[in-house]
Amino acid sequence: MRFHKSETAFFLFVALVFVAGLLIFHSYSVLHALAGASTLTERMTKADYLGFLLFAAGVLLSIALFFGIFFIYPLIRTQVREEFKLRAMTETLSARSETLEHAALTDGLTGMQNRRYFDEALREYLAEFRRISKPIGLIILDLDHFKLVNDNHGHDIGDRVLREVASCLRDMTRYHDVVARLGGEEFAIVAPNMSEDLLLKFAERIRKSISVLAIVAGNVRLKVTASAGIAVWDGRETAEEFYRRADKMLYEAKKLGRNRVCA
Ligand code: GH3
Ligand code: MG
Ligand code: MG
Repeated sequence: MRFHKSETAFFLFVALVFVAGLLIFHSYSVLHALAGASTLTERMTKADYLGFLLFAAGVLLSIALFFGIFFIYPLIRTQVREEFKLRAMTETLSARSETLEHAALTDGLTGMQNRRYFDEALREYLAEFRRISKPIGLIILDLDHFKLVNDNHGHDIGDRVLREVASCLRDMTRYHDVVARLGGEEFAIVAPNMSEDLLLKFAERIRKSISVLAIVAGNVRLKVTASAGIAVWDGRETAEEFYRRADKMLYEAKKLGRNRVCA
């Protein structure tokens, strides 16, 4: 077994104090013997011996004190300082990993959840809802002719439109809905506890809200519309199958002329 420097120092300190204690204890019995000594020589010898014992105890205690002040205490200080540094480092590292995790699941442009988060959340929601047999709805939403916005007004204005739409979606959804930007100008909403009827009305409200957004770019007021496909989970399909079904409805909405919801 290997001891740390500070442990060795501590054992030495205890040993010194212990031996000094023994010497003082022994001095007591010598003191008693001294009181009972009959001859002067015997008394002188005992007194000398007592003096030696107390001196030795004093030396040992002084060494222990010296050791404690100049060796053990600095060691403790160093250890405390190192522990403090280590804790600060651990805190920085865990804060950084939290930031990284957040960044990995967030869309940089809109601050919404991203595709990766959506995929995971949808799978988790389905696993949960499989047990409680409640409906769960999915809306996939895509802006119409968005390429034209970029072509006619520039990419920066395109980005602003995306941020406005994202903010509108956030305003219109409930706290337990998952709202994500899947990429480009495509968004998704997972809406738990919504029957097909309610989901259709909800998607219609969102579509209308997007269509009345007015994004001011220079001296023009920009209008955008969106198409949406919706589906209510049948309780059996996988997240991928469920997503594909809603996506097919989105394709249908585009085919039928855009700015509409297909169920
Ligand atoms: P559709 O109605 O069929 O959906 O037509 P669309 O023009 O919206 O679809 P298309 O897929 O042809 O074009 C999507 C455009 O979205 C092309 C791309 O330049 C733009 N886009 C994708 N991501 C971003 C982005 O982060 N910022 C901006 N400004 N534009 C983006
Ligand atoms: Mg589009
Ligand atoms: Mg698209």
